[in-house]
Amino acid sequence: MMSEVLVLGGGMVGTATALALQARGCDVVLVERGLPGRETSYGNAGIIQSEAAEPYAMPRSLAALWRIALGRDNGVRWELAGLPGQAGALWRYFRASAPARHAAASRVYAGLVVRSTEDHAPLVEAAGAGNLIRRGGYLAVAREAAAFEAAARDAERMARAYGLRMRLLEGAALRAAEPGLTGALAGAVQWQGAWSCADPGGLVAAYAALFERRGGRIVRSDATELARAGAGWRLGEVEAAHCVVALGPWSATFLQRFGIRVPMVLKRGYHRHFAGGANLGAPVVDEATGTVVSPMRDGLRVLTGAEIARPGAPKRSQQITRSEAAIRSLLDLGQPVEAEPWMGTRPCLPGMLPMAGPAPGVPGLWLHFGHGHQGFTLGPTTAALLGEEITTGRAPVPALSPAAIL
Ligand SMILES: Cc1cc2nc3c(=O)[nH]c(=O)nc-3n(C[C@H](O)[C@H](O)[C@H](O)COP(=O)(O)OP(=O)(O)OC[C@H]3O[C@@H](n4cnc5c(N)ncnc54)[C@H](O)[C@@H]3O)c2cc1C
Repeated sequence: MMSEVLVLGGGMVGTATALALQARGCDVVLVERGLPGRETSYGNAGIIQSEAAEPYAMPRSLAALWRIALGRDNGVRWELAGLPGQAGALWRYFRASAPARHAAASRVYAGLVVRSTEDHAPLVEAAGAGNLIRRGGYLAVAREAAAFEAAARDAERMARAYGLRMRLLEGAALRAAEPGLTGALAGAVQWQGAWSCADPGGLVAAYAALFERRGGRIVRSDATELARAGAGWRLGEVEAAHCVVALGPWSATFLQRFGIRVPMVLKRGYHRHFAGGANLGAPVVDEATGTVVSPMRDGLRVLTGAEIARPGAPKRSQQITRSEAAIRSLLDLGQPVEAEPWMGTRPCLPGMLPMAGPAPGVPGLWLHFGHGHQGFTLGPTTAALLGEEITTGRAPVPALSPAAIL
């Protein structure tokens, strides 16, 4: 079967890519080894973060690095064995986090995230997935007065700089906004423009079903079977002129076969559901412990910050245990739903921008990954940009080009 484009990987990024190319009239086959939306795009906090105008920089102050080094920052954990394999990428991440470079990356990033809800909106509607989406924003809470003051100042700066909608909540207003929050809190920033999803994997599955209803084909296969066929590509029965690699955290390993070395910072994260306790109307971010609690169909999902570990290292329980305790101090969490926490990996690039564009030196191959902390948010946005580039030859945001990033 001859097709125009093969898209490898059925996470939020690959599925949105398939839809964007299809909308531009391409004949697309989506290749996924399991089911769409069952990996990283399943396990996240489900926040469509139209307010996340500045990507996560690596802390650079000695005090912050020292806290991380000593294991006192639950938001960032590490194991010694995980450092050598990622040392080059971590060093690049550190340098890219310098204020001037972070500000430059933020100018590009802001242009992407602020349109993210608009890019999801038509897909949510066409997929009939409106029941999964809440448009009420989320809360970033602070326990101490000083932390709330600092968070409020920073939120006001962000709102001014990027035109974001937010309000500050304290006392009775905070209790009214989220009655389930019974722990002692100094206040919260409510990011009003963000959306959240009650079943992130379900949303990707709904997008994948929409792609099929519109005539697209999903093939359950292993992307490593990809081979050259003339100037194009073959995978099983399918031949195509173009191939898009959207394998999330698996992308760097996959690309080694083409001699493309991708420096990736693989930030693992954990979640576990709890049921039988309080209800929440929207996600709550506890900055002090790097924890999010997000209301999902399966219960309250408690999620951790980043863990730097060697690939394949077994799960470690410390971070999720501390996150669970932190959330228990804020609300009635109920009982765990699963015996074991889930673990996945955020595919982060050192420069903090995702990649969307042609693979250097490999005609017909396109790279679309590295969305880090916000791939659930950004999938449809960078997919629209990549779709434009593949079909017109013009790169709408040159800063996302793999040649600029690698
Ligand atoms: C704890 C946590 C919380 C997060 N919270 C948020 C949030 O609130 N908001 C947000 O925007 N982002 C969040 N993220 C980040 C977000 O989840 C990721 O950036 C995003 O899911 C990446 O999507 P992806 O499609 O690139 O990767 P994936 O979803 O991992 O998709 C890659 C796909 O490739 C497939 N694949 C891999 N290898 C092969 C192969 N050989 N053959 C065929 N198929 C293959 C996999 O099965 C998978 O389906 C969070 C991440 C974590 C870990």
